[in-house]
Amino acid sequence: MKKIITIVFRCLLGLVVLTSVGTAIFIYKITYGFPVSYETEKPVINFPQRQPAILVFSKTTAFRHSESIEASKSAISEMARRNKWFIYETEAGGIFNLQQLAHFKVVVFNNVTGRVLNEQQHQALSKYIENGGSLVGIHGAGDNSHHWPWYEKYLIGARFSHHSLSPHLQKAVIHLQTGADTLLTNNLPHSWNHTDEWYVFFNKPKEVHVAAYINGNSIKPSGNLLWIRDKNFGMGSYHPVAWYRRVHKGKTFYTSMGHSAEAWKDTRFLHLIENGLRWSIQ
Ligand SMILES: [Zn+2]
Repeated sequence: MKKIITIVFRCLLGLVVLTSVGTAIFIYKITYGFPVSYETEKPVINFPQRQPAILVFSKTTAFRHSESIEASKSAISEMARRNKWFIYETEAGGIFNLQQLAHFKVVVFNNVTGRVLNEQQHQALSKYIENGGSLVGIHGAGDNSHHWPWYEKYLIGARFSHHSLSPHLQKAVIHLQTGADTLLTNNLPHSWNHTDEWYVFFNKPKEVHVAAYINGNSIKPSGNLLWIRDKNFGMGSYHPVAWYRRVHKGKTFYTSMGHSAEAWKDTRFLHLIENGLRWSIQ
């Protein structure tokens, strides 16, 4: 009997240790991304003339929104067809050099997570934006896995804390911000229902113009950590979900929406992204 109890105890202990190690690895991965090699080879691209070029970058080293990234490709291609844009989609960082970035009107960080570029590539992207380029960030592009102060300041403007978890996906009413740039609000109703994984930041985004917001009190902002529940930190009831700003001669647009593939079937979300791209290009 004693032997059985010892075996059961050891099995349970083993299970606890395995679960703890698994959880620790997962938390490390989504916060920092696993170390990767950075691609430095410049791709060969034939840029068409007189067609605005958009670089859609979907590399991840932290949490990967596989379904959303997959769904975004055909949706963005469809927008490109309508608007006569040239899309270059890649997950390799070699494109992040000043000479090739100069060909693009916009760089999209399409649910990019983790540390995906080396120091030189960071500098190329920040210079490209400051010299007049545009950066559009979607959902995961705003989490806390990037560890790049320039990017956090100029694209996100806030520090990501956590996201809704119970329930994970929640319905909320999106409200357009009065006075927001009409290029960004074009084709959108004043308000609409949207289901997403809602991001909570430690503060409201700083030095940005809000394009859309939800009522922070209407969602359950339960966190990633079981023992910290119902926290909304500095977001309060006025909870921005899409914002934009100028960065020297360039500009950035970010939306915290876009967790699921379903978002890419929602015409309102699609209009918001299309508007963000149009605003970035003009
Ligand atoms: Zn997500």
